[in-house]
Amino acid sequence: MAQVELLAEVTKFIERPPKMTIGGTAVEAKSSRTFDVIDPSTGDKLTEVPRGAAEDIDAAVAAARESFDDRRWSGLRPGKRTDILYKIGELIKRNTPELAQLEAIDSGKPVNLASGEIWAAGEAFRYFSGWPTKTFGETNPSDDNMFIYSLREPLGVCGGIIPWNFPLIMAAWKIAPALAFGNSVVLKPAEQTPLTALRLAELCLEAGVPEGAVNVVTGLGEEAGAALAAHDDVDKITFTGSTGVGRKILEASAGNLKRTTLELGGKSPNIVFADANLRRASKGSMMGVFLNSGQVCTAGTRILVEKSIHDEFVESLVGATRSMKLGPALDDDSGMGPVVSAEQLERVTSYIDIGRSEGARVVTGGERATDLGDGYFVQPTIFAGVRNDMRIAQEEIFGPVAAVIEVADVDEAIAVANDTMYGLASAVWTSDVSKAHKVARGIKAGTVWVNTAGLYDPSVSFGGYKQSGFGRELGKHSMEGYTQTKSVWVNLR
Ligand code: ADP
Repeated sequence: MAQVELLAEVTKFIERPPKMTIGGTAVEAKSSRTFDVIDPSTGDKLTEVPRGAAEDIDAAVAAARESFDDRRWSGLRPGKRTDILYKIGELIKRNTPELAQLEAIDSGKPVNLASGEIWAAGEAFRYFSGWPTKTFGETNPSDDNMFIYSLREPLGVCGGIIPWNFPLIMAAWKIAPALAFGNSVVLKPAEQTPLTALRLAELCLEAGVPEGAVNVVTGLGEEAGAALAAHDDVDKITFTGSTGVGRKILEASAGNLKRTTLELGGKSPNIVFADANLRRASKGSMMGVFLNSGQVCTAGTRILVEKSIHDEFVESLVGATRSMKLGPALDDDSGMGPVVSAEQLERVTSYIDIGRSEGARVVTGGERATDLGDGYFVQPTIFAGVRNDMRIAQEEIFGPVAAVIEVADVDEAIAVANDTMYGLASAVWTSDVSKAHKVARGIKAGTVWVNTAGLYDPSVSFGGYKQSGFGRELGKHSMEGYTQTKSVWVNLR
C-alpha cells in the first residue's frame, strides 16, 4: 500500500476549522452550531463545519442580492469578468494537491481520481470564462418604424444545491456559469462533503470575485437546503441530486415561481452488442458502472447484453472488475474507494439483499468488504440473470452494483433501455455505425455515449429526459438557464 501523507495545508484547513463565506466574510452559523465531517475510509471524524440554517441562508441571500443590485459583479467590464473567472480556474489548478486530498478524505474517492476531478472543476471555470465577452442580445427587423432589440440579462440571485458524489465539480458547474452570465450565487454543498466548496469560496475571493457574489452556506438539506429552495428573494435554483429531493425543490420553488434546473437520478442503460470490441466494451462498461464506487448519476447500472455473447461478456466484465483494487482514498493504488457514508453503506447492502431475494445471481462481489477496517467499503457487485422489472433494475442504488440483462436484438435493446422512469444517460457498444446511430436516436436520454462511457466536457450540454430532470447545464445551452431576455421597443416616428 502506498499511503499518501496529508499535506500541511490540508491539516491546517481542517484544524481551523473551516467557516462559511457570506458577503466576503468567513462566518460561523448564527446559532454557532456545527456538524461533523466524517472520513468514509475510516469512519473517523475529520472536523466540524457550521450548521447553517434559515437565518444564515437569509444573510447569504441578502449579501448576494446587494452584490447583484449594485452591479459590482454584473457591471464589471466583461473582459475583467473573464480574467477573474479564468483566475479561479488557475487557482484551482495550482492548488490541486491540496484540493484533491481534501476531496479524498471528505468523500472517500481515491486521491488519484480526485486529482482528475479537481482539474475538471478548474476546466469548468476556464471554459465559462469565455462567456462574459460572448453574451449579447439581438435586433429584430419586424417593423420599419421601430427599433426593436433584445437584451440578454442575468437572472439575479441563483441558489445552487449540490450532492456529495463530485463535490468540487458540482460546485464549479453551478458557480462558474452563474457568474459567467452575471448572476450572484448562494451555494449549499452536501452535508457529507462540504470541504472543497468552502475552500472554493476562498479561492473565488482571492481571484477577485467581489464580496457577496459567491456565498457558501454549509448545512443540512432539510434546514439550509429547504430554506434556500423556498426563499422569496432567490430567482433560480439549480439542483443536482435525487429525484425525490428534486420534487421537493420544485414544490418549494413554487412560492415565488423561481426558475429551476433539475439534474436528478438515473438508471442508465449500457448496451453491448455482439459486434462490439469485447475487451474495450467490458473495461468501459466496468468503469461506466463502478467509477466513484458507482456513486454517479449517469452510471451505466443496467448492462444490456446481446444474447449470443452474454456468457463470454459477463466473464470478461467480472475479470475487469476483479482487476480493480478496492482501498482507502489516501492509498494511491486504490482504484475504488468506500461509499460516502454509513447511511449509503446500509442502502447499498440492502439493495444487494433485495437483488438476491428477487432471484438475480451474484457473479462477483455481493458483500461489504470488512477486511479494510471500519471504512464504508462495498465489494463491486455484478448481478446476472436480472429482469428489467426487478427493483435492482428500476431503482437508483447509487453504489457499486451492476445489473446484467440479456436482450435478443436492437429493437429489444431499445425497448428495455427505455423501460425506466429515468433518462439521464446511456452507452452503446458496437462496431456497426448504423446500429450505433439508430440506437442513439431510439434512446430517450440526455446523453448517449458510443463506444465509450462516462465522459463530460464543459462545452457539451448535460441533463435529463423524463424523471431525470429538466434544463441543460454546460455548453451554450447553459445560457438559457442563467439569463433572461428583455425586448426593448423604440418608436422611430
Ligand atoms: P442523497 O439522498 O444522495 O444524499 P440528496 O438529493 O438528498 O442526495 O441531496 C442532494 C442535496 O440536496 C444535498 O445538498 C442535500 O443537503 C440537499 N437536500 C436534501 N433534502 C433537501 C430538501 N428537502 N430541500 C433542499 N435541499 C435538500
